[in-house]
Amino acid sequence: MDDLLKLVENSKEEIKSFSSTDKNPAEAFRIRFLGTKGLIKSLMGEMKNISAENRKQMGLVLNDLKLLAEKKHEELVMMNANGQPLIDKALDLTLPGDALPLGSRHPISIVRNRIVSIFQRLGFGVAEGPEIEDDWHNFTALNLPENHPARDMQDTFYVSQNPAWMLRTHTSNVQVREMEKGKLPIRIICPGRVYRNETISARAHCFFHQVEGLYIANNVSFADLKQTLYFFVNAMFGEKIKIRFRPSYFPFTEPSAEMDISCLICGGEGCSVCKHTGWVEILGCGMVHPNVLENCRIDSSQYSGFAFGMGIERITMLKYQIKDLRLFSENDLRFLKQFISAV
Ligand SMILES: [Zn+2]
Repeated sequence: MDDLLKLVENSKEEIKSFSSTDKNPAEAFRIRFLGTKGLIKSLMGEMKNISAENRKQMGLVLNDLKLLAEKKHEELVMMNANGQPLIDKALDLTLPGDALPLGSRHPISIVRNRIVSIFQRLGFGVAEGPEIEDDWHNFTALNLPENHPARDMQDTFYVSQNPAWMLRTHTSNVQVREMEKGKLPIRIICPGRVYRNETISARAHCFFHQVEGLYIANNVSFADLKQTLYFFVNAMFGEKIKIRFRPSYFPFTEPSAEMDISCLICGGEGCSVCKHTGWVEILGCGMVHPNVLENCRIDSSQYSGFAFGMGIERITMLKYQIKDLRLFSENDLRFLKQFISAV
């Protein structure tokens, strides 16, 4: 009995001061003390040699020893291989949190927002409309009747079950819808996605983004158009940029013009971006054709207006020196991450 009690005392000391160089100290401890061939099992085995009157007391002593070993084992399980308590790591509130990956705005969104905010400063409101459109709002109301040759340049995608419906080729359909509401004057810009049936290449895609503008009131002149676009170009590209207008043709404006800006790369001296002309085209514009006003139930003898339209991709490519239009829709993170600091 006394020998056994001494053995138990020794075991208690050993348990309390247990340490191991084993890769898994908790498992080494379990085998040494709590396993089927462990120390506690073998001490239990000694019970049969204890006299009946001492057996109860011995049972209590051995049970205490077992509880002590189990508690120690639990502690060891909570330690990692370096002997550091795992539980402390889980509860250390002073550690910095896991960083969430921060996304960036798409370059098209950055430039779109920029364009919108510049025109908002001039009092233009933002108008939006459907991307699936009928023939009237996309073509006919805009002085592009059926069989008009200019329709060929804007081939698009039609809804096969009902070819009267198509994907809009420009955001001018929003202009038509705003004019039809009959609330004058109108001063809006229409940003949005548009579609063309084009072969996909570095310079063309089957969808892209536009911002169009429309201003209709009494006595709106070409001078108003020019001044508005001057303001836009200066705000968008800087004070030093020059602009020029070239006569052009659009069915929905008369007179019509295309607007160029001096090349951002070479400053007008000539380079590959401007094809050695010193100028790059950025938008089309003109005075709204009287037929378009009349189609939208606006009295063309009383009201006049101007309209313009630009591709957001084109502006973005010029601004950030992007050479391939396809990059905008490929979702390549190596490309998109470069705009993380742009706002
Ligand atoms: Zn150039």
